[in-house]
Amino acid sequence: MKTRIFVAGHKGMVGSAIVRQLSKESDINLLLASKSELDLRDYSAVEEFMQQHKPDQVYFAAARVGGIHANNTYPADFIIDNLVIQTNVIQAAYNAGVHKLLFLGSSCIYPQLSKQPITEDSLLTGTLEPTNEPYAIAKIAGIKMCESYNRQYGVDYRCVMPTNLYGENDNFHPLNAHVIPAMMQRFHKAKIATENKVVVWGTGKPMREFLHVSDMAAGCIYVMNLPHPEFIATVPKPMCSHINVGTGRDVTILELANTMARVVGFKGDIEFDVSKPDGTPRKLLNVSRLKSLGWSYTVDLEQGLEMTYDWFLENLATLRS
Ligand code: GDP
Repeated sequence: MKTRIFVAGHKGMVGSAIVRQLSKESDINLLLASKSELDLRDYSAVEEFMQQHKPDQVYFAAARVGGIHANNTYPADFIIDNLVIQTNVIQAAYNAGVHKLLFLGSSCIYPQLSKQPITEDSLLTGTLEPTNEPYAIAKIAGIKMCESYNRQYGVDYRCVMPTNLYGENDNFHPLNAHVIPAMMQRFHKAKIATENKVVVWGTGKPMREFLHVSDMAAGCIYVMNLPHPEFIATVPKPMCSHINVGTGRDVTILELANTMARVVGFKGDIEFDVSKPDGTPRKLLNVSRLKSLGWSYTVDLEQGLEMTYDWFLENLATLRS
């Protein structure tokens, strides 16, 4: 019997990377449904899908995501879409007897001024970064939903909290994207147009940790398949279901910009637009829990940017934005 796995959000950056890796296994039957086949905002459609397919495992990689500008500009969309789709998928999965589910969150769930590097037990110990609070609140609700279902129903719903992700199949929108795809697009255009300067938002001082999406997919599959006693043995608090996934290393936005210039081959100056928000000063994850469970990242930042830029050049005509 093959394991039946539903990947919600399989067209997105993380979902598609999970599918690429799971597709290599012969004992897996992947269940996939595009947006037009299954609208995750429609509870009865999700319930019908789950009842019909009865997956053994669910990877929840569907989300409305975006960078600092998008989160700041469309807070209502970020809170409602994420709350609705995650609630629908978790509830319908439970109703269909799904015992194992992996919920993908984000490092922005942690308080703005968390002690660095951020440990899993920092959750709900302080106020959130205002630029993405609605998104973070939705993701925290998802974690608490998984924990509550674990407590009340004895299911095994785990949550992974990735640091800032990037890679193939990212969204390259100039305004709404996260920093890596937005910068890549801008540096590339500046190179092609032989401009002598390129603009980067904020002061360049914030620090961010970046994980390539192939590592994220591998980390998700690793966490999903860890035996329950092993996963539970490292839980910092009873019933805590979330675990950090990152590299444990961060860089300033200025360092990122310099690396990006090297990778893209942009030779001009970098100028900072301080009218744009910096967001949280730092959000470096403490990844010792996942490390102690036997998993670490493999792709370093420069290598990951090179892989992403190669992909970007090959897919220029069809980029998501
Ligand atoms: P955040 O990690 O939630 O703040 O999300 P982002 O990836 O959008 O931004 C990370 C940092 O990169 C912030 O300090 C931004 O101000 C900075 N940044 C610099 N240039 C850009 C850009 O072109 N787009 C975005 N989204 N952020 C930029």
